[in-house]
Amino acid sequence: MEKLRNVIDNKLCVSCGFCDFYSKKKLEFNFRKETELFEPKIDDVNFDYKTFCPSINIDMVKNSIFKFNKSEPKSILGFYKKLYYGFSNNTKTRVVSASGGLVQEICKFLLDGKFVDEIYTTTHSNHYKKSRGIKLTKAQNLTKISGSIYHGANYSSIIRKIKNTKKRFAFIGLPCQILALQEIKMHNKKILKNNFITIGLFCGGLIKLSGYKYYLKKFYSPEMLKKIKNLRYREKPWPGSFRVEFNKKFELKPRLAGTSRLNIIRYMIAEHFNKNLRCKFCPDQLSDFADISLGDPHFSKYSNNAEGGSFIITRTIKGLKIINKMQKKLRVSLFNASEKEIIDSQATLKTRRYISSSIFLSKFFLYNPPKIKNYKKYNKRFMFDLYMRIIFSLIKSRLGFGFFVRKFVAYPLQIVEYLFFMKTSKSFFRKLFEVILNKKVIINYKKSEINHH
Ligand SMILES: Cc1cc2nc3c(=O)[nH]c(=O)nc-3n(C[C@H](O)[C@H](O)[C@H](O)COP(=O)(O)OP(=O)(O)OC[C@H]3O[C@@H](n4cnc5c(N)ncnc54)[C@H](O)[C@@H]3O)c2cc1C
Ligand code: SF4
Ligand code: SF4
Repeated sequence: MEKLRNVIDNKLCVSCGFCDFYSKKKLEFNFRKETELFEPKIDDVNFDYKTFCPSINIDMVKNSIFKFNKSEPKSILGFYKKLYYGFSNNTKTRVVSASGGLVQEICKFLLDGKFVDEIYTTTHSNHYKKSRGIKLTKAQNLTKISGSIYHGANYSSIIRKIKNTKKRFAFIGLPCQILALQEIKMHNKKILKNNFITIGLFCGGLIKLSGYKYYLKKFYSPEMLKKIKNLRYREKPWPGSFRVEFNKKFELKPRLAGTSRLNIIRYMIAEHFNKNLRCKFCPDQLSDFADISLGDPHFSKYSNNAEGGSFIITRTIKGLKIINKMQKKLRVSLFNASEKEIIDSQATLKTRRYISSSIFLSKFFLYNPPKIKNYKKYNKRFMFDLYMRIIFSLIKSRLGFGFFVRKFVAYPLQIVEYLFFMKTSKSFFRKLFEVILNKKVIINYKKSEINHH
């Protein structure tokens, strides 16, 4: 199929696996070195004419009407009923999870209460290349799903199970996966009926594992790097360290805190220079079409909570009811959150909402982005800071991450970008001194002073 071929040729595949739904025979997914993702082998495959791929076209308006009966959300957060900050009351679940253990706790609640028989989500296997979709039917197996996989996970292992299931199921995924499932539901009444609920994660994008390995070079020799068996991203305290797993041991290495400013700049380089291209043209950071959306409470009053928690956007009555029932049964703790807190916690939200700016600028960088029909009110194009953010981001994609860029370009460019977006001259000079003195960045964890809901 020509359009899917373009997706792959233009390096826009996010390895969601959903094209397998539309293919006559089971698709094979091969690991591609360049993008470090599993991509479909589409030669000689017959696809249904309705084939939807989230890297070809994204219609926010159509999907909005389908899910909420309205085309334009009033809030930049999308449609919602209530906003919370919360976490699982099961300490074990909370601590092993990415950010409060809500996903796992909700899934447990759904299975225990027989709201659903099946959960479709992802698991870390014992090798990063095999992080993949998984179907779970027993609450005790849910420990397999805890944690965020930033290098991407391929869902092709579960697409046909979703296609053929006769049971009620919950689906957990990133915004593009929630969208891909919803596009199926638009044409498939059986799946629409069986899919009891969708839980969407906020998503900043997929990062190549080699990017993280570049960061870890600060801590390990090339020989040791080769011996890494698995990498987990969110070991406590929140926001989480790397858990680097070898054959018989594991070690924790800092990510966003507990390390020097220059190391954090290196971490930013690792992510920004190695982000999946399609993710740079993504209009949806907050899983607009999920029943419940969850994400990290970055850099707000919640960030000193070492055990972690997530912001919760309940988008539908069903999502709200489930969360409130869980609170009544003391499965979760909930606190009211404000729109502003959630908006402030997502640095790239504005860039995503005003995606037509990225699409417009992409042409100057000779990219072929997906076609996007965005909400009307975010169609405005020119905003200086937005343009600059996008230009920095696209320059990085175009530069690549070869030897010369890594050695001579990455640090100066990342530091210039970091300081460029400081809002006041005071914060500019404070950060500049932090960089020059290479100060250690620490979070003073303490008991939060938030009021119980
Ligand atoms: C790739 C990625 C990017 C993210 N970006 C942001 C962001 O920019 N801002 C923000 O606030 N939050 C982001 N999050 C969400 C955040 O990290 C937490 O997942 C969320 O707060 C839920 O935490 P939890 O403790 O309830 O999850 P857990 O209880 O630990 O459950 C995690 C769930 O996420 C699923 N999952 C993990 N990795 C993937 C993947 N690659 N694809 C599909 N499903 C996956 C797991 O299977 C599991 O169901 C991101 C998550 C991922 C996976
Ligand atoms: S549907 Fe998903 S896996 Fe298939 S080509 Fe598109 S992005 Fe890649
Ligand atoms: S940024 Fe968008 S396209 Fe990329 S993985 Fe996240 S939801 Fe999918």
